Amino acid sequence: MCGVVGILGHDYVAQDMYDALVTLQHRGQDAAGIISFNGRFHTRKDFGLVRDVFHTRHMKRLQGYAAVGHTRYPTIGKNVLEDVQPFLGPAPFGVVLAHNGNVYNAPELREEIFTKDHRLVNSDCDAEVLLNLLTKALTKQNPDHLKPEHVWKAVESVHKRAKGSYSTVAYVAKQGMIAFRDPYGVRPLVMGKRTSGLATDYIFASESVTLDILGFELIGDVGPGEAVFIDEKDRKVYRKRITRRTHIPCIFEYVYFARPDSILDDISVHKSRVRMGRKLAVKIKKAKLDIDVVIPVPDSSRTAALAIAEELDIRYTEGLIKNRYIGRTFKMPGQKIRKKSIRYKLNPMKLELEGKKILLIDDSIVRGNTSRRIVQMMQDSGAKKIYFASYYPPVKHTCPYGVDIPTKEELIAHELSVDEICKSIGADKLFYADIKDVFDSCIKGNKNMKDMCMACADGKYKTGVTEKELLAHASDRSTSRICASLDERSDQDQQLNLV
Ligand code: SF4
Repeated sequence: MCGVVGILGHDYVAQDMYDALVTLQHRGQDAAGIISFNGRFHTRKDFGLVRDVFHTRHMKRLQGYAAVGHTRYPTIGKNVLEDVQPFLGPAPFGVVLAHNGNVYNAPELREEIFTKDHRLVNSDCDAEVLLNLLTKALTKQNPDHLKPEHVWKAVESVHKRAKGSYSTVAYVAKQGMIAFRDPYGVRPLVMGKRTSGLATDYIFASESVTLDILGFELIGDVGPGEAVFIDEKDRKVYRKRITRRTHIPCIFEYVYFARPDSILDDISVHKSRVRMGRKLAVKIKKAKLDIDVVIPVPDSSRTAALAIAEELDIRYTEGLIKNRYIGRTFKMPGQKIRKKSIRYKLNPMKLELEGKKILLIDDSIVRGNTSRRIVQMMQDSGAKKIYFASYYPPVKHTCPYGVDIPTKEELIAHELSVDEICKSIGADKLFYADIKDVFDSCIKGNKNMKDMCMACADGKYKTGVTEKELLAHASDRSTSRICASLDERSDQDQQLNLV
């Protein structure tokens, strides 16, 4: 999961790009990058939060009327600058590209690109593979000026070769901006415009919240398997559905990743979380527990927790206070420091916990370590009972579509039953949302939506490959997973949605 943005404007767009990346900071805090164009490409990429990567001197250098930007959440690749997006290719015309997702056959493609095309993919990042596929298919057509037909053909070729999820934005020097999604549309991508006088600027972004904040009007989503080309000369927008498959967006975007104020694929993230909360409340109600307060694990669980509290008619309160100014913890050396860091990030408020029977709401339970530590912290603060409710069903399977879900063996729900998990995390009772309830809560927002991905919960991989094949690819790629993301990142980073 990463944040991706493309802006085709008229004058200096780097400030808008910076602001856009800040709005998508929750989608990736590991690194950030911008490549802008004003007749030449200008690059700034580094590790860290957006505010740490771009200083005044960098912003002054990022001149240009077009730019592609990225916030990185590493699922594949080493912790080296070579893997940080966007990527730049020289031909045709000069192309900059960034994407969000995971091309799971990237290792084979990398090899193919080297042996057949005699091009070197220098990084472990899928974006560079996509860049090579796209630019090769464009160059092959030898265009004097890029036309929509060239783009459609090139994206069709990418669709045929790249397997997995990829919501992609590319800018071709002096030709225009290209955006496309994989045939299943797993990761989100929206587009918008902003008109001032006779000039219209265009934007592509991972979430609609970026458009709201920057004052762009939402045109809509880039559809699954669709390509969009904005010709730089006449600023006309061309769209074509290149490959037709059932749309299978990631349901976890609605559960946890996306900001609640975003609308993705016509579905409000906020409303989905409210519906998930209400449905889970019905299940909790049946247990007839004596509950004093409902407390969310901040931040993503708040919306569902509020809905649960309303439905149960029980007081909602904040009992865990989050320090928003703590950066990444996964670079901290040693387990002790990481364990301590959860206390730095989340402080239990004794006043609201002591002597109380608490219904604690979280979005999901992955390894269980964070849940265990939170329960322990609350018990240490005097909580009498802790009933834990996860508004996502047990996470039992890995994700091949760009989310850093640990191997099956590391997932607490892989082998343990709900009662065993409850015991393991030290809670007095554990509730999980039902798969059907979560599915219905999300899909309800869009009448045209027929299906969604819930593979990490139900094990149904719907992109035409078996779990076995996906896992084989995953283990191929795990050799390159020596980055800090999995080994050193504690799962509270994944669960706490640090901004
Ligand atoms: Fe999203 Fe889970 Fe599907 Fe991955 S497996 S795309 S996290 S729903």
